[in-house]
Amino acid sequence: MDPSKHLIKPARNIDLRELSTDETEDMTKPEGKEQLEALTERLVELQNVFYADGSRALLVVLQGMDTSGKDGVIKDVFGPLNAQGCHVDSFKVPAGAETRHDYLWRVHAKCPEKGMIGVFNRSHYEDIGVVRVHNYVPPDIWNNRYRHIREFERMLVEEGTIIRKFFLHISKDEQQERLEARLADPNKRWKFDPKDVEERKLWDAYQEAYSEAIGATSTKYAPWHVVPADHKWYRNLVVATVMVQTLGALNLEYPTPDFDPKKIKVV
Ligand code: AMP
Ligand code: MG
Repeated sequence: MDPSKHLIKPARNIDLRELSTDETEDMTKPEGKEQLEALTERLVELQNVFYADGSRALLVVLQGMDTSGKDGVIKDVFGPLNAQGCHVDSFKVPAGAETRHDYLWRVHAKCPEKGMIGVFNRSHYEDIGVVRVHNYVPPDIWNNRYRHIREFERMLVEEGTIIRKFFLHISKDEQQERLEARLADPNKRWKFDPKDVEERKLWDAYQEAYSEAIGATSTKYAPWHVVPADHKWYRNLVVATVMVQTLGALNLEYPTPDFDPKKIKVV
């Protein structure tokens, strides 16, 4: 599979309404699952070298509407990795000290250190997403944030972090089905938040805000993929493929020891 067709080229105006949510590339679900297995094996190997090498960090940003599959990607794609080299941070409504700092403060504090893969379940993009849709701050404040975010991410990249951002793109119908499933299934109900139904009413405003946010912040150094996410297996495949390509392209090798192993005898 070639995820590059889901890559958003820099400085492109996008309209999420025109981008597919249900692509499968004529693959079947079993084929997709089989491919994911092979990719996962490769990803685990690549993460091992990435951790051992320890010269770079990798930041993965996951955004998407409620039920779009952020938790699913974390479990299915990143779950098999070595937990020692991977951490997940989830960003909720800012509280306490977070509200007394600039919006990037809490985000910067969670950025991965070298050798680590950091996965953001929501991120600073909430500050031009939900914040904009609900007018939590006025337009002249959130308008500056596209620039802040481009510059912030550029700084991270120039200082050794690799960034990949994924918008998990589902249709409004698919969201309805998933919300209903959450309500119906006692094992999923804990995930249901009555607020989600209110947010759903603002669907169009969210699509507009994210169209603009993604268009304004997809850069060569920190690109967005808009991932068709109505099919969970296809969504996983796109994210896993980008991860394997990104880590594979680094051509990292295990560090060579500064001692001669032949001259050491373990007694
Ligand atoms: P969940 O990911 O389902 O646990 O929900 C987290 C909630 O926190 C979502 O409704 C987000 O929109 C909200 N949230 C995250 N970051 C912010 C932010 N910076 N400002 C306002 N709400 C936020
Ligand atoms: Mg939720």
